[in-house]
Amino acid sequence: MFDEISQLTSILGSRRAAIKLLLINEGIEIDGLELKSALPDYPKAYRTKRARMRAGLASGAFVDLETADIPFIPAELLIMVDGAESVVKVNARDTSRFRLGMGTNGLRITTRDSRLESISARLLFRPAALSLTVDGFPIDTYLQLLGCDRLALLGYTGCANWFQGNQCRFCDSCAQRAGAKTPVPSLNDLRLKFKDDVPAWWKSQGKPYSESVARAFATLLSGSGIGPHLHLHVMAGNLLDLDAEWECMLDLSTHLVGVKPLSEVESYLNLLPPKRSSDLDRARKLGFHILIFHMEVYGDQVYREVCPGKHELMPFNTFVERLDQSVALFGRGRVHCGFVLGAQPVAELQAGVAVLAAKGIVPDYTSFTPKAGTPWAKRARPDIHETAGFAAFLAEIYHEHGYSPLYCSLSSRSSIMNEICEGLPKQ
Ligand code: SF4
Repeated sequence: MFDEISQLTSILGSRRAAIKLLLINEGIEIDGLELKSALPDYPKAYRTKRARMRAGLASGAFVDLETADIPFIPAELLIMVDGAESVVKVNARDTSRFRLGMGTNGLRITTRDSRLESISARLLFRPAALSLTVDGFPIDTYLQLLGCDRLALLGYTGCANWFQGNQCRFCDSCAQRAGAKTPVPSLNDLRLKFKDDVPAWWKSQGKPYSESVARAFATLLSGSGIGPHLHLHVMAGNLLDLDAEWECMLDLSTHLVGVKPLSEVESYLNLLPPKRSSDLDRARKLGFHILIFHMEVYGDQVYREVCPGKHELMPFNTFVERLDQSVALFGRGRVHCGFVLGAQPVAELQAGVAVLAAKGIVPDYTSFTPKAGTPWAKRARPDIHETAGFAAFLAEIYHEHGYSPLYCSLSSRSSIMNEICEGLPKQ
């Protein structure tokens, strides 16, 4: 492990990035019950999640099929390496070489390699403001705090591609447990209660939700102490009608603008590109700083194969056209495009992202992880050195073009781009 960290550090130019990459890649062994007995108010006082989920369809609804009382584990950790902190999304894995446990001075991540000092870690508290209620639900039902300073807002739950059986090959999405009570509009309801009538669904569920979200946003801004920055990340899943999807998301965003101009926070809009280019202009006028569109793989043929549902909604060539139009409106470096490393040959992806970067688009990546119940459950994940090499390649591109990674190292949980770029000489 010690040698592996040294090798990765020399590729990435940052020991913090190397350790974070290893933690993301192989997960951490965590015993939720041990944490419960060691930490007062665990799990309630912290940001936690169930250690396991099984997404699938049941009686026409897309839900988490897991019914066992799985213990809660931290959703994220802050690690301290070489005097700086980074947030890491927790991926619990019993076979990991890393283990989170209580040391004499708080939580430590340990390994069996005696040459490696244990790593200081801390859990993220759930600020009291997140437990205040708006229309009967805790505020973090509407706005999730990720890391130290990113507020994430989901327009609705679900992805219509799952209902069509043409979801992306790697995706296990994020279904809720059946019967979970939530005010967030859901595609299960759109389908089962509203018979795919989007305007009726949005009027009945989306409008009241948008009003509640605005109240939740106002409450958080007035007293949660979120910082050091404020990244506001507005996301959608996928409706089968892209025009309707943009209408809903722009309507929801308009409610946020009523609380605080989006131009005054670092605001991100993350969904599929629109069919109508006028929607891009509306997003810019609302004050969004950055657009995020996930293409997942680069190239017409591979995109059709890996993301058949997305391809039907937004074919590859139209996607590229919309990226170009977005750069023309938002500016170079303000349109990000996400890819899944491991979903196609790395050289093919590198060639594609270089083309996009030269046009002003900032490429991002997440590493493919096999998920139970998906067509790619048995596909190999990318080798960690391949991942490090690709991240270093992207950092060079960022440096060459003057691009910045998304969010910051305290709120970007599954990416090491901030950590690498922080180690590069300033331009
Ligand atoms: S678009 Fe693809 S990756 Fe995104 S939620 Fe739907 S199936 Fe999953």
